[in-house]
Amino acid sequence: MTQFSDLGLAKPLLKALTDKGYTTPTPIQAQAIPTVMTGRDLLGIAQTGTGKTAAFALPILHRLAEDKKPAPRRGFRCLVLSPTRELATQIADSFRDYGKHMGLTVATIFGGVKYGPQMKALAAGVDVVVATPGRLMDHLGEKSAHLNGVEIFVLDEADQMLDLGFVVPIRKIASQLPKERQNLFFSATMPNEIGKLAGELLKNPAQVSVTPQATTVERIQQSLIFIEAQRKRPLLAELLADSAVERSIVFTRTKRGADRVAKYLVASGIEAAAIHGDKTQGQRERALAAFKAGQVKALIATDIAARGIDVNDVSHVFNFELPNVPESYVHRIGRTARKGKEGIAISFCADDERTLLRDIQKATRQTIPTFDRRNDKSLAAAAAVADKLAPPEKYVDPRRADPRNNVPAELRRQRNRPARGGDQAKSPGQGQGRGRNGPSNAAAKPAGGDYRGPKRVSATAPAERWNPID
Ligand code: AMP
Repeated sequence: MTQFSDLGLAKPLLKALTDKGYTTPTPIQAQAIPTVMTGRDLLGIAQTGTGKTAAFALPILHRLAEDKKPAPRRGFRCLVLSPTRELATQIADSFRDYGKHMGLTVATIFGGVKYGPQMKALAAGVDVVVATPGRLMDHLGEKSAHLNGVEIFVLDEADQMLDLGFVVPIRKIASQLPKERQNLFFSATMPNEIGKLAGELLKNPAQVSVTPQATTVERIQQSLIFIEAQRKRPLLAELLADSAVERSIVFTRTKRGADRVAKYLVASGIEAAAIHGDKTQGQRERALAAFKAGQVKALIATDIAARGIDVNDVSHVFNFELPNVPESYVHRIGRTARKGKEGIAISFCADDERTLLRDIQKATRQTIPTFDRRNDKSLAAAAAVADKLAPPEKYVDPRRADPRNNVPAELRRQRNRPARGGDQAKSPGQGQGRGRNGPSNAAAKPAGGDYRGPKRVSATAPAERWNPID
């Protein structure tokens, strides 16, 4: 079996890997590292948890160190785009970790925090910048950053970028990159729009793939419980009380829903914390740290907030509500059963979610074993108490809810900000038809992916359809 020492990586990298106790590359690492080291473009189909961060971070660090030179002022030699702040932080931490014996500099650029320290970090030039598209666009607009020095461009979690409406900003960012560069493109799934974007950005890429599209992880024991919507919280509390649940992630469709579930669980004596785009960076980091430390048994999360979070030993994933997009089901349950472990995924399904269930089963080519807990009197009594502890959410038809409602707060603000004139001043969402002026162009419709057709609300929907859950 290939070892890291066989791949020709620089000594300081091998030392950092030994420090971490990693000797054997994961399949995507074994495939990607030698290719990326040669400078060739790469298209990687892989989910978080496969070791894909090191698959690009190691050869990038190797290349940067091999040809060590100062980054230009306000510029960087490697740009990694990530859909969320959490993932950006994790990627930057990995670069720092693997590159700790190399003396290279790494900075993060994302919203929700002050501009000042980011400008300061960029001023003298940085080797590696990990950024979310919205804040990077702001820095480019303000001229506190430029892309002239980028030698390597990485787009991570491209399909998630699509869900967040980031495809237009990505194209704008890419248009400012130097023509001569190496491109690395990672996505867990390959919907049409993402395939198109990859075609535009990559030149003769090598392709590596570690999981077939939209198949569920075999080690995960999946089940689904039919339950009345208003009785989901007591049912969740009952299931979480089981000692077999060591550490769980509970997915809700909306941010408010996440808060209410967390509030109810805490009131019921279960350690829980919510994590979503409306929480401050500090709150998100504290919740995640408490969860990682095992002080919190249930982390209640929206899709976007949970995406990319790398926590080992998650024993259970609960889908409090089914996701609108079948691929999200695969991503969600993939939070458990990592590193060869077993995992359990339990989904709740109310009557109005049956179409979503049908879509998930069709996309994942499986029938999920079901149980029926409707008309359960003990849950009915508990639900009445639950309503008092944390009132239920205003009803939103799941088929009308847009999965992008979990867009981080700072990006939403930018979207609603009036344009300052000129393309540069346009914020990421404005090209998506989500500004106050309502519908814009049809070409900016969201996510033209495989499963997103009829049931998704068009991005050209009027603002009021958005607001109740925003
Ligand atoms: P990722 O898919 O990049 O989020 O990585 C998932 C987890 O696997 C992270 O905690 C990594 O630190 C860990 N990891 C990555 N590569 C290896 C390796 N070769 N051996 C052991 N663990 C690894």
